[in-house]
Amino acid sequence: MQEYLLERENVIEQQNSSENGLSAQEAALRLEQNGKNRLKEGRKATLAERFLRQLADPMILILIAAAGVSGITAVCSGESFADVVIILLVVLINGILGVLQESKAERAIEALQEIAAATSKVLRDGRQIIVRSEELVTGDVILLEAGDAVPADARILECASMKVEEAALTGESVPVSKKEEALRTEDGKDVPLGDRKNMVYMGSTVVYGRGRAIITAAGMDTQMGKIADSLAKAKESQTPLQQRLNQLSRILSVLVLGICLFIFGVDLFRMYPEISAGGIVDTFMVAVSLAVAAIPEGLATVVTIVLSMGVTNMSKKNAVIRKLTAVETLGCAQVICSDKTGTLTQNRMTVTEYKGKDEKLLARAMALCSDARLDEKNQAVGEPTECALVSYACKCGMPKGELEAEAVRIGEAPFDSMRKMMSTVHRQKDGSVIQFTKGAPDEVLKRCTRFFDGKEAVPLTNRLREEILEANKAMADRALRVLCGAMRIWEKEPEGYEPERLEKGLCYIGLTGMIDPVRPEAKAAIEECKAAGIRPVMITGDHLDTAVAIAMELGIITDASQAITGSRLDEISDEDFAEEAEKYSVYARVQPEHKVRIVKAWKKKGKITAMTGDGVNDAPSIKNADIGVGMGITGTDVTKNVADMVLADDNFATIVAAVGEGRRIYDNIRKSIQFLLASNLAEVLAIFSATLMGFTILKPVHLLWINLITDCFPALALGMEEAEEDIMKRRPRDSGEGIFAGGTWL
Ligand code: ATP
Repeated sequence: MQEYLLERENVIEQQNSSENGLSAQEAALRLEQNGKNRLKEGRKATLAERFLRQLADPMILILIAAAGVSGITAVCSGESFADVVIILLVVLINGILGVLQESKAERAIEALQEIAAATSKVLRDGRQIIVRSEELVTGDVILLEAGDAVPADARILECASMKVEEAALTGESVPVSKKEEALRTEDGKDVPLGDRKNMVYMGSTVVYGRGRAIITAAGMDTQMGKIADSLAKAKESQTPLQQRLNQLSRILSVLVLGICLFIFGVDLFRMYPEISAGGIVDTFMVAVSLAVAAIPEGLATVVTIVLSMGVTNMSKKNAVIRKLTAVETLGCAQVICSDKTGTLTQNRMTVTEYKGKDEKLLARAMALCSDARLDEKNQAVGEPTECALVSYACKCGMPKGELEAEAVRIGEAPFDSMRKMMSTVHRQKDGSVIQFTKGAPDEVLKRCTRFFDGKEAVPLTNRLREEILEANKAMADRALRVLCGAMRIWEKEPEGYEPERLEKGLCYIGLTGMIDPVRPEAKAAIEECKAAGIRPVMITGDHLDTAVAIAMELGIITDASQAITGSRLDEISDEDFAEEAEKYSVYARVQPEHKVRIVKAWKKKGKITAMTGDGVNDAPSIKNADIGVGMGITGTDVTKNVADMVLADDNFATIVAAVGEGRRIYDNIRKSIQFLLASNLAEVLAIFSATLMGFTILKPVHLLWINLITDCFPALALGMEEAEEDIMKRRPRDSGEGIFAGGTWL
């Protein structure tokens, strides 16, 4: 029977698994038997096909023609075949080198994709671990939360307000609410895919809530696998620079052919009326040598190699490039908008202060209203903010496990960065139902009507409210992240767990303040940015005062007037904001859609803008930015998938290092191009002037040989040059600037 029609126990039995998933051993066995959980890739071009593709180049075609002509003359005149052999040898070597380099570049990109490969949270041996999604097998129990890409087809075992976007499968872009109960059908009819509310499918993403599910189909057995029999591999599109160079090559080829025809004509004219077959062949060979001299055959190859090596280099510095175009754009970045938590700070939080009448109750509320938990060694695992709270409660003598045994969670309204809070509802030992809410103080306080004074809930007067907000500001001014805890007593279980139903009429308990130290390398990186003419901008969901305190410490701003909150931003029209954007370097209490506005405002000013993002709702701003930067550690799959670059260490300094590398790569490509064009031009002049004077100094084969050796290697060497010393002291390059800007032609 279909898994969505079965009860959960029967599905687990059908998959020969357990509530806590498989053992590592069993998973390994199944992986070996059934293969990896991935879709088949499209057919790759064979070696022969790649080689032939290399030959389809105007320059190579000219050479092949020359070899043909040489061959015919050799047969007619009885001379040796040395020319033919050498020319064909050069063509062959060129082709082989091309194929080798192309596959090397391809391998570099593939290796990067491996680093950025999707991972999933799975239960093995009863413990939660993270594995590569391709290592999942049927029977595995996976954990899903907002932002995760669903790695395989799975039946939901537990569902906390989980909503899933399934557009790739059903075309329906509105997220679907999921549930865990078995489905019923009338008269044995199948349930259409879009209505299978207790299933999640590969290719969709979780946009809200969280859940646990057991994998029922993996790899090509999934619905996705059935639709897309083989996944055509997305072809890496060429970067603007490569496109411009291709254009240049084409123009050069035409120009060179023109000159050659001209020389050929002049020579024939000079011989007139004594044109002999031998004479024609000689003239033709002169023209060919000129063509060989003029066409910079190494151009495209050198650029590809320098780009692919640069990309590998960047990945060693923790910046994983997902789109080759980013390498070039990085070099001209003018504004870097970065999240605060985790990117500029360490995201290693510790509660250092609290405010409230009952510390134990506060700690209990904060820990119970968290998804973090303690491992065997009493170390908190989960999201850093929540870990800090769970550790705090543990320090107060209340390990999370014990708390939960006494107050079982029966429902929740998960955290999202729009509401900036979350709530959980618990049934206590005595049967009573209590709700805890934690979140940004200004937001939570808006929903509080009462105040816990240590014994009972009293009305929350305006004076008390002001006192709390003052305490909040005092902590925030010291760069602490402040969270507010509140509760609500229910007569009986609430009828639903929607945020609107739960989060009102709350009773304030207290505030916790936690420090999140700035990353030690961030300050230097900010300074480097400024020296390089790049504007660092900090964006955070945190309180304005916390944001200002941290931004000052980092040197992003010098006074509070350069900071603005999301709600102030709402009052400014898009046009006005585009004018004013340059005034602000810190945005506090923002919502994801504010980020899109910020990116758009800077782009309107013509600035090349990088934007980081981690959450589910950050995808639009990342997509809008010139350089979308995803977070490798804390980032959700959704944001990583749309990013141009992913930071393996979530570190702001890595972005700055990548910009430096981007500038170096562009510099070096320019150097190589200058060298190739200059040396080819010199060769043309040498041949051309000699021909005009009536000498034939070099035969095409000689030139070919010289070119093959002397063009590629120095150009490559230039491409590998170290960065110039002032590379991060110059202004960013103008993105519209051509390769020949700044007197290169001369
Ligand atoms: P960043 O600086 O990267 O934007 P942030 O954590 O400040 O990160 P959000 O994740 O959008 O941004 O959080 C916004 C606010 O919501 C936080 O400032 C905090 O007050 C509150 N908050 C964050 N995490 C939680 C949580 N797990 N539970 C309740 N409230 C939270």
